[in-house]
Amino acid sequence: MLDLQLGRRGLLGGALAIGAASLVGGRAFAALPEKRIAFRNIHTNDTVDARFFGADGWDHQGLAELNHGLRDWRNNETTVMDPQLMLLLSAIRDKLGVAPQTKIDLISGYRSPQTNSALRAAGGEHTGVASKSQHMLGKATDIHMPGIALENLHLAALSMRGGGVGYYPKDGFVHVDTGRVRIW
Ligand SMILES: [Zn+2]
Repeated sequence: MLDLQLGRRGLLGGALAIGAASLVGGRAFAALPEKRIAFRNIHTNDTVDARFFGADGWDHQGLAELNHGLRDWRNNETTVMDPQLMLLLSAIRDKLGVAPQTKIDLISGYRSPQTNSALRAAGGEHTGVASKSQHMLGKATDIHMPGIALENLHLAALSMRGGGVGYYPKDGFVHVDTGRVRIW
């Protein structure tokens, strides 16, 4: 009897508890903005649009969707992308006045070791593909933003000082990672 009651509560209990916690949290929680980000893979045209941060902190469901969206498109391998990278990219986007639902053009996200070696051997879509690439660690993306001049995206990325920023005007993208602050 008791078990049954608890079982019933179990289904709804989680959602109710989250709601109550938000109320108890009051203004501090309410003030935390929801964060979302969207991408379109330029090679496959695959899109992902996910909330990755909310009043209760990281949104693990949303982050899982982003892990899939930023997978190695050559062999469909996924990794756990650095959530800080999503924060950094959304901050760059916001600074440029680009709406959160705008799909960021994704040239490269996660790169499996296999893909990274192949790109290195081929001399690369990505000039100077590093052997210990931040892409392999799930900490890097190569992007451009629809409607934004590449040099402005570059400047916005530099201004964040959130990690590495590489400028590839010939290839039409900016590399952004959450490794050490580096510029090339
Ligand atoms: Zn890159």
